[in-house]
Amino acid sequence: MRTQVGIIGAGPAGLFLAHLLKAQGIESVILEARSRPYVEGRVRAGVLEPGTVETMARLGLDARLRREGLVDEGLDMRFRGRTIHLDLPGLTGKSVMIYGQQEVVKDLIAARLEAGDPLLFEAKVTGIEGIETDRPRIRYTQDGEEHVLDCDFVAGCDGYHGAGRAAMPRDRMTLFEQAYDFAWLGVLARARPMADMTYSNSNRGFALCSRRSMQVSRLYLQVPAETRPEDWSDDRFWEELHARMFDEGRSEIAEGEIFQRDLAKLRAFVAAPMQHGRLFLAGDAVHIVPPAGAKGLNMAVADVRVLSRALTTFYRDGSCAELDGYSATCLDRIWKAVRFSSALTGLLHRFDEHTPIQRGLQLAELEYISGSRNAQASIAEQYVLLNYLPGHD
Ligand SMILES: Cc1cc2nc3c(=O)[nH]c(=O)nc-3n(C[C@H](O)[C@H](O)[C@H](O)COP(=O)(O)OP(=O)(O)OC[C@H]3O[C@@H](n4cnc5c(N)ncnc54)[C@H](O)[C@@H]3O)c2cc1C
Repeated sequence: MRTQVGIIGAGPAGLFLAHLLKAQGIESVILEARSRPYVEGRVRAGVLEPGTVETMARLGLDARLRREGLVDEGLDMRFRGRTIHLDLPGLTGKSVMIYGQQEVVKDLIAARLEAGDPLLFEAKVTGIEGIETDRPRIRYTQDGEEHVLDCDFVAGCDGYHGAGRAAMPRDRMTLFEQAYDFAWLGVLARARPMADMTYSNSNRGFALCSRRSMQVSRLYLQVPAETRPEDWSDDRFWEELHARMFDEGRSEIAEGEIFQRDLAKLRAFVAAPMQHGRLFLAGDAVHIVPPAGAKGLNMAVADVRVLSRALTTFYRDGSCAELDGYSATCLDRIWKAVRFSSALTGLLHRFDEHTPIQRGLQLAELEYISGSRNAQASIAEQYVLLNYLPGHD
């Protein structure tokens, strides 16, 4: 098999890249290790920044998003029993949308398959060869047989554990990493959600109440990294959530059936550069951010917007200039997103190693944000617009 761009991974990065390329008349094949039900059922992100929403609209993939997505205009932060309300449209002129990553993935997969474009499930990439030539090859297995995909370019959109980054020359890449010793225990509950995305920094630890729909809440608690989700009974989860959200009368947060639970370990990670020869990496394959800034999915979409434009310029004009600058263009934005996500993590979580003075400084920063419209505008701007790339496409 032969194509112009061989894409590894049918997560947000790979699927958006394939649609963006198709809109420019560029062929691609997506190879995905997992089955379609597995990929479509993976519960992860839920906050779509305007850059992501507008990209879906431009691609004509936003019909269900417009019907079922929720506009989120507020971001709240609680501490000492008080709430800082960030009015996102008032502070930035934009809002974010709530629409599950698995719904985005379902919409993009359906559109790809309906158009009859190649997307191979249970096709696990085992090796990438010839990235320093203009005819790289991707080796993959499907139904127990080995296959080869010849292409002009390889896009490694295959997440943190994928084959893309593994194929980069070790001595050409620098890894930057910080692991946290706590995690997020996340649940989905059939319960009326709070109106705004609400973070809380309490003496008991961090908590977050967010929405997935008008009937489903997505709720998180900071827990030790080695926690087993099954050790948390429903009663224990609700009791801790009420306490951390300062909902003392247990009247504000509606409870309901918990039907999904997962544990997300927190880490910040950047690999640079994001390219070598004809291999280009995007999304979680090259960067992971702690989830507090709701950035990972949106960063992946922004990366492939830059990459698709560079590939379009190459196929249209024969110019490599944008492709050569891909990594530098992306890393400028990526470091800002890592910085914001790490800063928000530092502001909102309890750290075992914090001395009383460090806890005092954390609370003083929240007091400062509470009283400063400029500080609120800075957080809102980074929450909503870091991956916006106006006028890019
Ligand atoms: C619990 C949780 C909550 C999150 N919340 C948010 C949020 O609110 N907002 C936000 O923006 N981000 C959030 N994120 C991050 C977001 O989900 C990721 O950043 C996003 O999935 C990255 O997309 P991607 O396409 O780069 O990688 P992935 O979604 O990981 O996709 C990579 C794909 O490659 C496939 N693959 C891997 N190896 C191979 C191989 N060898 N061959 C073929 N295919 C392969 C995988 O099966 C997978 O389908 C969250 C993540 C988690 C875990």
